[in-house]
Amino acid sequence: MANPLYDRLFGTHAGKSTPFLHLPDGKVLSHQDFLGITAQIAHVLTHLGLTPGDRVAAQVEKSPEALALYAACTQAGLIFLPLNTAYTADELSYFIENSGASVVVCDARMEDTLTPITTQLGARLETLNADGSGTLSDQAAAMPETFDTVARDAEDLAAFLYTSGTTGRSKGAMLTQNNLLSNAETLVKEWRFTADDVLLHALPIFHTHGLFVASNVTLLAGGSLIFLPKFDLDVVIEKLPQATTLMGVPTFYTRLLSDDRFTGALTSHMRLFISGSAPLLAETHVQFETRTGHRILERYGMTETNMNTSNPYEGERRAGTVGFPLPGVELKVTDPASGDSLPHGEVGQIEVRGANVFKGYWQMPEKTAAELREDGFFITGDLGKVDADGYVHIVGRNKDLIISGGYNIYPKEIELVLDDQPGVLESAVIGVPHPDFGETVLGILVAAPGETPDTAAMMEAVQSQLARFKHPRQLILIDELPRNTMGKVQKNILREAYKDMFA
Ligand code: ATP
Ligand code: MG
Repeated sequence: MANPLYDRLFGTHAGKSTPFLHLPDGKVLSHQDFLGITAQIAHVLTHLGLTPGDRVAAQVEKSPEALALYAACTQAGLIFLPLNTAYTADELSYFIENSGASVVVCDARMEDTLTPITTQLGARLETLNADGSGTLSDQAAAMPETFDTVARDAEDLAAFLYTSGTTGRSKGAMLTQNNLLSNAETLVKEWRFTADDVLLHALPIFHTHGLFVASNVTLLAGGSLIFLPKFDLDVVIEKLPQATTLMGVPTFYTRLLSDDRFTGALTSHMRLFISGSAPLLAETHVQFETRTGHRILERYGMTETNMNTSNPYEGERRAGTVGFPLPGVELKVTDPASGDSLPHGEVGQIEVRGANVFKGYWQMPEKTAAELREDGFFITGDLGKVDADGYVHIVGRNKDLIISGGYNIYPKEIELVLDDQPGVLESAVIGVPHPDFGETVLGILVAAPGETPDTAAMMEAVQSQLARFKHPRQLILIDELPRNTMGKVQKNILREAYKDMFA
């Protein structure tokens, strides 16, 4: 019986003693070891009475068993619903209720907090701890290491993945088997992944980047993962010599560059460095090349679509851009008001269509209708343009666009100028309410270590480089920008903090 996602990613490795997970303590799990754990968990889930289409929510630390829980849900035809480990009890209660999960898997530390919630919602609670122990594994230990894969269609749902909640409350994106599989197939080809690849995996596995991009691509290619619980600079530097590729968020790269041990010699054997989930500063790209000789390959995607664009493997990886639409992904830039396509080079909202695009937001029909057009195009919420050579540039999120005195202002344009000023580490430009202009521009700055940027001099620099309506009304120095667990700057928090400044 067929189950395309399971068969292609996991089942194909049955019986293989090839390495799949290299663990921090030196232990290696082979593909077959992993499939054995997967089958045992699949038995537990079916013994608990779950049937195809049921949801399994998991808020667990990263471990081989946690990844096997994803594989087990796939094998048993269940919908996997990974949750950010930073979520609090209140947030979890929303996700568990919203998703209608029948089983919730959590760390034992959360058991007492979650028991009243799951009891009230009629869901079953199991535990899985960072070291692999817990009630799930206790039951799994007694189960056979093979499981009859449940038949699924490519159009059946495989996962509900909640968005990062950068712009508001997280939304559950309904992803089918084919959404995931088609994208993994494309990425393996585009990025030349093979069974020889060893990917250094320091990303969380509750998010599309670490779970689907990194894991699915490696599984499909038959390679292995250096599976680290989190990004720890010392450990990453220690393990890099065994890896061929690294996938990271931009902060991985800035942190590596901040360390003198990160040298050209340490990376000379590496095949590929990939970045995504948030914008990589062109400056980081340049610094990285100067230090290592490698050009980071930046790509662009999101929870709802997996990956949409990528810089080329061969050919110019252009700093500050996210490359070209992937094969099978159509991308257009449209006027937010009319929805009409804009001429080449103009900034508008980015829309995408392809086998990668999700089926809608779970139990949010209005939001789905507003963002997913009937013709299949998804309005991403990002603003950008396509340049003369076809490279896609992201200029920011629609929700971060500033409209001041009737002018559209793209924060990124001002941030690029601010970031270039002496003593500035990074910046975030936001719009805050203003009685005359509707909104006005505020520049929030973080100083480089040990520096005190001269804001008056900066204001002059900005004035000489940007049109008057884009000038920040004020520059404010703060210690650090608010970021969520994926390293994304949370401008909504900044907007809230400064909303009364001119009101
Ligand atoms: P929410 O939708 O809940 O507000 P989110 O959009 O941050 O949260 P994700 O799906 O994790 O949730 O992130 C996708 C977004 O991340 C994209 O829409 C885009 O804004 C941003 N992003 C991803 N890759 C890049 C990139 N290479 N450059 C710039 N932005 C990127
Ligand atoms: Mg989003």
